[in-house]
Amino acid sequence: MIPKLPLDRINWLSSVFLIVTFFTAVIGTPIYIYHFGIDFFQVALFFVYFIGTGMSITLGYHRLFAHKAFKAGKTVKLTTLLLGASAFEDSALDWASDHRQHHKHVDHDEDDPYSISRGFFWAHMGWIFFKLYPRPLANVGDLKKDPLVMWQHAHHQRIAVLVGLVLPAVIGYLYGGWVSALGGFLIAGVTRVVCVQHCTFLINSLCHTLGNRPYDSRTSARDSWLMAIPTFGEGYHNYHHSFQHDYRNGVKPWQWDPTKWAIWTLSKLGLVTDLRRVPEEKIVLAELREMKMRVEAQIATGNTWKIHCPTREEAYETLLELSQQLSDSYVELEKAISDRIKISGDMLQRWKQAGAEVGEQLTLLRSLQPALA
Ligand SMILES: [Zn+2]
Ligand SMILES: [Zn+2]
Repeated sequence: MIPKLPLDRINWLSSVFLIVTFFTAVIGTPIYIYHFGIDFFQVALFFVYFIGTGMSITLGYHRLFAHKAFKAGKTVKLTTLLLGASAFEDSALDWASDHRQHHKHVDHDEDDPYSISRGFFWAHMGWIFFKLYPRPLANVGDLKKDPLVMWQHAHHQRIAVLVGLVLPAVIGYLYGGWVSALGGFLIAGVTRVVCVQHCTFLINSLCHTLGNRPYDSRTSARDSWLMAIPTFGEGYHNYHHSFQHDYRNGVKPWQWDPTKWAIWTLSKLGLVTDLRRVPEEKIVLAELREMKMRVEAQIATGNTWKIHCPTREEAYETLLELSQQLSDSYVELEKAISDRIKISGDMLQRWKQAGAEVGEQLTLLRSLQPALA
């Protein structure tokens, strides 16, 4: 699908920056490495910068400033504002404003700034080519009261150049003279900016395309362990769109979410407080609701099966039975939550089991359904 592009309002500064940095990274950096080689220092500097700036976006710009998923002291705020600016993704204020707009109007062409409904490329980075300034910023009144956020908003471009490009060159120079300075600029500077930016862009493009939707299939956002790897845990995007104020995106203990682990560690060090968590029963309720919708859709298509097959009919009957149990569990859990009844671990386990059994039966049934494939 080719979206209708607003060619009359190209943002030349952002567009030239994205194109020049990209080609410098894919052409300039390999030429440098060919001539001068690459040592452990340059690789280490790249990764320190990649993780520092990348996680300042996920932990700082995203979960702290855009969603207020926890409270932070000045040290964490200042660090994430300085390093976040060095990812060249705008000020935290602009970023949070766009992102809150994305959550509020997700998948709506006009109001979601990076809606996937306008195509993969638009959601990934196309929208940045047409971003106009100044932004309205009507939805970030809370952040406007924060002097550190406003200071960064006024100076983010200078901070980005100094901390994101000049500093790695200076560190390189101190380590090994001018050749190393050029390496620091090209590898930990420009190439790292391109890598961090595309990892962030993936959250708006592939995380709305690839994966499954265990919490809510009415949104395009998806959960994918694969996407969680380059995005520091933001790949569990279906959960995130369902419960945006939770400090965790990978809510299950085994899910890869280094941003969640970093926030938890900072809380143990007393640097952040008030971590927001959605109660487990509400998460289970969302999973049951989603499973219930899927089963009901499957049952509705049951009578369209043309080929007689006893195994399939038997599986279908079992699904009907389990579906009834699931409905009962859903109503029971919903009532327990609204009546604020204390829910024990055993009770929660029983409801989880009801969802899991239906899920398994649904998978079995689908595998027996060649006529509809
Ligand atoms: Zn999203
Ligand atoms: Zn978000």
